[in-house]
Amino acid sequence: MPEARKPVFDRLAIIGVGLIGSSIARAARAQGAASTIVATARSAATRRRVAELGLADEVVETNAAAVKGADLVIVCVPVGSSGTVAAEIGPALKPGAILSDVGSVKDSVLKDMGPHVPAQVHFIPAHPVAGTEHSGPDAGFAELFENRWCILTPAAGTDLAAVARLKAFWTALGSNVEIMDAEHHDLVLAITSHVPHLIAYNIVGTADELQSVTRSEVLKFSAGGFRDFTRIAASDPTMWRDIFLHNKKAVLEMLGRFNEDLSVLTRAIRGGDGKTLMDLFTRTRAIRRSIIEIGQETAEPDFGRAKHSKESPTPMPRPYATGD
Ligand code: NAP
Repeated sequence: MPEARKPVFDRLAIIGVGLIGSSIARAARAQGAASTIVATARSAATRRRVAELGLADEVVETNAAAVKGADLVIVCVPVGSSGTVAAEIGPALKPGAILSDVGSVKDSVLKDMGPHVPAQVHFIPAHPVAGTEHSGPDAGFAELFENRWCILTPAAGTDLAAVARLKAFWTALGSNVEIMDAEHHDLVLAITSHVPHLIAYNIVGTADELQSVTRSEVLKFSAGGFRDFTRIAASDPTMWRDIFLHNKKAVLEMLGRFNEDLSVLTRAIRGGDGKTLMDLFTRTRAIRRSIIEIGQETAEPDFGRAKHSKESPTPMPRPYATGD
């Protein structure tokens, strides 16, 4: 954990307190990155839970009430709801405030939220590339963003001092910050996160539908690669529906390439072309080694599961962090 420092913001408002919103609240408090934290969520049940967990200094009932007087507002809701939330909070935002989000898609967020942002407010979309398959306020933890990337996608002409302040906030939470164009972000994340999730949803669905293999056999022998797919395929359905509907163009482009490459592999297997298979598998093994070398994955066997399950049966957040 980085050392506690002077608050970067006086009043932080978090709208939506699920995995990401609650992790921001926990990390901001642990690092002293904001003097006061105010939070809200859609349902009374979640707001009550946030208050019970003591995640914020104030828990309020509406999105508009949450942003009153806030210096930094972070919208942490599924991307399909970003526009509606922006319309609700736009008129209540403090002049000079920074409005940001954490959505896994950035171009649609710019387009959906942008029109509701008053001229005196700095709008800087962001995406912490860190996550797990769990949801809700209980799922968050203060270390989620440590040594993970947070990508900021400000539109051209955004105030540089505001961008620097938001960068300082995420750095205080332990993230490495990169600034990128929203469209480019969506293309990169389509191949590194969105298409892999789609593949996981698909393979788990296919296995479930197979009539020749009983469900109990799928569960019984799931220790192979299938188990890792089931973890990814357990991710929040609303969040992922919204990601695919809002990053349609980039996902379809990457899926097109994926399908072409899959056809090559299909042909190689059918034709007994071992060289094609060996060449690909050797290249992909090297990619995994490089990811471990840059510290974005553990080299422990079985993703560190055996070790962590002995130390603490649940939760096992670090080796399971996905980077969505
Ligand atoms: P989550 O655990 O399901 O939490 C979503 C939160 O948003 C809940 O507190 C929900 O309130 C609230 N909410 C939904 N609609 C709302 C509205 N109209 N007004 C106020 N609050 C509303 O979701 P999450 O995993 O934290 O994901 C949140 C965002 O982070 C998504 O945009 C996602 O793309 C992005 N993200 C997720 C990950 C990941 O791994 N999960 C990683 C990086 C980025 P209720 O509980 O009352 O319904």
